[in-house]
Amino acid sequence: MNTPAFRDLNLIDPLLKALDAVGYTHPTPIQLKAIPPLLEGHDLLGCAQTGTGKTAAFALPLIQNLKKNPIRYNAKQPRILVLTPTRELAIQVHDNFVEYSKFVNLKTSVIFGGVGQAPQVKSMLGGVDVLVATPGRLLDLINQRHVSLRELEVFVLDEADRMLDMGFIHDIKKIIALLPEKRHNLFFSATMPKEIEQLANTILRNPIRVAVAPVSSTAELIEQRVMFVDKDKKRDLLKHLFQDPSLSKVIIFTRTKHGANKVSEVLTKAGIKSDAIHGNKSQTARQNALNNFKDGKIRALIATDIAARGIDVDDITHVINFELPHEPESYVHRIGRTARAGAKGKAIAFCDAEEKSLLKQIEKVIKMEVPLDPNQPYHSDAVEGARILKPGQAKALIESRGPSRAPQRGRRPQEGRRPSEARSGEKPRSDNRFPKKKFRSPAPKKND
Ligand code: AMP
Repeated sequence: MNTPAFRDLNLIDPLLKALDAVGYTHPTPIQLKAIPPLLEGHDLLGCAQTGTGKTAAFALPLIQNLKKNPIRYNAKQPRILVLTPTRELAIQVHDNFVEYSKFVNLKTSVIFGGVGQAPQVKSMLGGVDVLVATPGRLLDLINQRHVSLRELEVFVLDEADRMLDMGFIHDIKKIIALLPEKRHNLFFSATMPKEIEQLANTILRNPIRVAVAPVSSTAELIEQRVMFVDKDKKRDLLKHLFQDPSLSKVIIFTRTKHGANKVSEVLTKAGIKSDAIHGNKSQTARQNALNNFKDGKIRALIATDIAARGIDVDDITHVINFELPHEPESYVHRIGRTARAGAKGKAIAFCDAEEKSLLKQIEKVIKMEVPLDPNQPYHSDAVEGARILKPGQAKALIESRGPSRAPQRGRRPQEGRRPSEARSGEKPRSDNRFPKKKFRSPAPKKND
């Protein structure tokens, strides 16, 4: 039997045209299962991770349903509200709505905290079809009477389990209390523990349930490794890895533009051809770097997550996470740059002591442990034994220190633990990832 096409799902032509434009040829499993009942207006409980195509699974039918009803905008009111736990996801979901509605008229807006509210307030003035929001900023603007949910038609709760993990439950309950009784509800979560089921029950009415395999299936195609390394040895480790000629087309991810430049300088000095792409570079400079990378003129491209969007290079041999991302989904997107079209790709993550909590979050999302590779000369027992900070603490510590500054020797960090203390005072976490002795490099480590 042939895989059904988008056309078989009764989507309208302008949507099919937009899907064509973004290059989707066939619906993903969640799209196949969710689009028909959503077009009919059923409530939906979706057990699916980011990466499965769930955004299109709800955005397409919701856009189509909106277009069926005559458009009426009420000042400051959205017709559809999508709640997401993070600003990154809010932006991504909003971008997807914009892409899919390229050939229909749709007013959209995205609001999140951490930035000025004025442009967000302005974008809502005349009312919108779709509002994508994080809970805190939404409540804030509601309290200031810049947004009203009185006439809301559709409520989408995205990544419910992460919402709960991040402590948004009270905000969500407050928002739900403001919604009109009669509405269409969609609820997505990667996992369905009891408290999520309970929350879903308070929101949904006779929902259709759909569940799809997690994105970890993509992650499983990729040979992943994590290397525990002190922060100030990451550059040496990187240069060391490039002695292996099989690293011929490598994307290296850093968290910041500055970090990307630094890594590029280090590699260039070591005679490894590379270039950095990020938002501070001109479009021409970025395009040149990308072309050189595609043509094999440079071995490494150093990128931030945002700059890496839209990089479409097929035969990437390795993805190196020089710094782990704060968003676990970004890890999945990053490593997904290799192992395309069934090819076997490799992903190497550098992890220092403060990043261990990020690694833990990533492993939760990909539902597997990233195998440890201690077989490298900069393997750090101190990192391996370091305690795992709470995500908030780790993020604050990492950001307060900047991207690529080496920790100052002899100065005690405010939080976390010095390598020597971790080694002497605390037993390293017993780790069943790899039989360490067998792989441990005999190289003596003078550095720590
Ligand atoms: P999501 O789970 O919504 O975050 O989607 C994950 C990624 O898959 C996004 O980059 C989408 O643009 C992409 N995507 C969604 N649906 C399809 C499809 N039917 N074919 C190809 N790519 C898709």
